[in-house]
Amino acid sequence: MISFIVDLPRRSPSYRKVVYALSEIGLRLNTKFAIFNDEAVAPSTSIKIRYGENESKKFLGLNLPFGKGTKIGHLVDGKVSLWGQQTDRGVDCVSGVANLLLFNHEVQAVNAKLDNKGVLPAKEHPLVKLGLSTKPLVENNVQYIQRLLNKKGYHWKRGPSVWGKKTCVILTHDVDGPQLHTPFDLARAFAKFLFKNNKFEANSAWHGLLTLMLKAKDPYWRFDDFMKIEAAIGAKSTFFVYPGPIKHVPTHINDPHYNPSKHPFPEMLKRLANDGWEIGAHYGINDHSTKDFEAVKLKLEELSNSKLFGSRAHYWAKCWKNPMSDWQAMCDAGFHYDTSCSNQALGFRSGTTYPTTPSLFWQDTCKKPFVVFPTAVMDAYLHHRWGAASSAEVSIELENVIKNTQDNCGALVLDWHVRSLANVGVYEGMATPLFLTLKRLLENSDTIFLTGIEATQQWQQHIEKNVLERPYFV
Ligand SMILES: [Zn+2]
Repeated sequence: MISFIVDLPRRSPSYRKVVYALSEIGLRLNTKFAIFNDEAVAPSTSIKIRYGENESKKFLGLNLPFGKGTKIGHLVDGKVSLWGQQTDRGVDCVSGVANLLLFNHEVQAVNAKLDNKGVLPAKEHPLVKLGLSTKPLVENNVQYIQRLLNKKGYHWKRGPSVWGKKTCVILTHDVDGPQLHTPFDLARAFAKFLFKNNKFEANSAWHGLLTLMLKAKDPYWRFDDFMKIEAAIGAKSTFFVYPGPIKHVPTHINDPHYNPSKHPFPEMLKRLANDGWEIGAHYGINDHSTKDFEAVKLKLEELSNSKLFGSRAHYWAKCWKNPMSDWQAMCDAGFHYDTSCSNQALGFRSGTTYPTTPSLFWQDTCKKPFVVFPTAVMDAYLHHRWGAASSAEVSIELENVIKNTQDNCGALVLDWHVRSLANVGVYEGMATPLFLTLKRLLENSDTIFLTGIEATQQWQQHIEKNVLERPYFV
């Protein structure tokens, strides 16, 4: 077992941040650990790791480098990228982890560059700008601490993977405009073709009209196809569904335009849930409060006849200015996890391939932990017409994301829109990268496919098993 000793005054502004960072570090070391304020109460048989200002000569455990300044950023140790502050005794990795997981690395960019949907464009994200978005910076920091432990003479290895198998893959689908055969969707496709001369929309429009006249299946309605493909590879996925307008919240112009209360949505949602697929909430851009999230949850639970646990923001339009407050509202509304953590490009918005547990920051206890997954791979990021990178860059970045997740036994969230499987018109070329990615993942027998809530429960059990004690906040 590891005992972290936080040698900082409880009233210092960084105290809570440090306890949170050490909690996330402990969960990645994958062993039982406790956090104490006072060395005297730490079990004498445990490995003691101290973090704080006034280093004591009498302390026999590992003193972690502690930086007093606030110059936190990219550092290189050998060839490995770290995120922290340089001190004369090495790299302060704890403040680096706190900086990333509390999104302090984004503050400047967020204050200056949010777009009209309230989202930071990928090219403005600090990690994308530095070419670090596919690096597992948090896990690299944790391995740095592990190396310090080994140097100190603790020959210690981290525990086995959290997921039973090495890598966990969470396959998810955003349900945005999954129909082309409605007057609105057809008219929109023709309008974009006629007024914006968009030839891909033209293909969508003609394809939609032709299939409608031939009484063929709606090209964008691909729920059944996903069910078949996933059943064939032994996977179940999570579908994030727009709840439609919520009474007390104004809709945003960029919200989806369908109403899931109308045929054939309720029948489809019930069938998915009944057959073991998970339904989550793809909430509207203006939903922010606990009341909003409660209404969203209740509505989708009624429509799908299933219990809702997870959520994802439409356009990632959440959690930029104050991520913790949105997540706390979701948690209070009864959600267990969120998957809106993405920098809109391939990779990790806060440098981690693991889920994070922000409730360990806002609450004293480990009860009912709220889990957030980084969504590292989305259909549009892999497509040259939509993504920020060229095809050659994309293949390298995707390989880095997969390899870094596998090497660290992390969780890889994939996001493919339901309509992307149509592979026609606007979404032409969107399905192929999914098949190639799945093939690449299936080549490794140490991969397990979990739904969002299954992965959340495993992470929650990991917390319950390994976090033995944390000091109460003041
Ligand atoms: Zn969406």
